[in-house]
Amino acid sequence: MVVLKSPEDIEKMRESNAIVAEVLEILRELAKPGVSTLELDRKAEETTRKRGAIPAFKGYNGFPYSICASVNDEVVHGFPSKRPLEEGDIISIDFGVCYGGYYGDAAVTIPIGSVSEKARRLVAATEEALRRAVEQARVGNRLGDISYAVQSYVEKEGFAPVRDYVGHGIGTRLHEDPPVPNYGPPGRGLVLKEGMVLAIEPMINEGTWEVRVKENGWTVVTRDGKLSAHFEHTVALTREGPRILSLPA
Ligand code: MG
Repeated sequence: MVVLKSPEDIEKMRESNAIVAEVLEILRELAKPGVSTLELDRKAEETTRKRGAIPAFKGYNGFPYSICASVNDEVVHGFPSKRPLEEGDIISIDFGVCYGGYYGDAAVTIPIGSVSEKARRLVAATEEALRRAVEQARVGNRLGDISYAVQSYVEKEGFAPVRDYVGHGIGTRLHEDPPVPNYGPPGRGLVLKEGMVLAIEPMINEGTWEVRVKENGWTVVTRDGKLSAHFEHTVALTREGPRILSLPA
């Protein structure tokens, strides 16, 4: 069941998402060669609690950390670790909070120092895919228009959208209906309505779209060991068009 949000709900979600955006900006500044993803995790949790919010992922279905830190071939749900980041890595950070009963959720992929041309192109294409997908989050469009915007663009760039993990509705729960796939034909699926709030999150692989889950039961990696990138915004569908809630204040 898709829960439609009132303008008041959306204002509250904007507050949660502004905290998410602030934390991601702080982590982007900190993510340098020599810094561990466990340090980033600590900073995220500390900043979130200072704002009076709760890290949404910690404890969610037993997930042990505040951020998902997915490095290189890790797609999503990577565990922060003591391993220092190295020049040439790309790191996807997915982060969510709950504030005043409403959730916010966003992700960015950050290149560490100078990265390969392939990595740079993958990160740029994934970010552009998100921009194009958000552009389709309009009242009267279909859900498939969002999915198709991602798939058609990244495949043209020579990359592949992950199929086993998808975006989602979001509100007073972290994951709500509808699922928001990053692949599929345009003009199909749910008709988009005013008041829907969607976490749109292209997960894009350099090689095959196929993935597997590591021994820790969480971390998703590419099956071929090639790179993966991930960007996400929480987006409200308003009469005036898509409104990205997870931008810095
Ligand atoms: Mg999400």
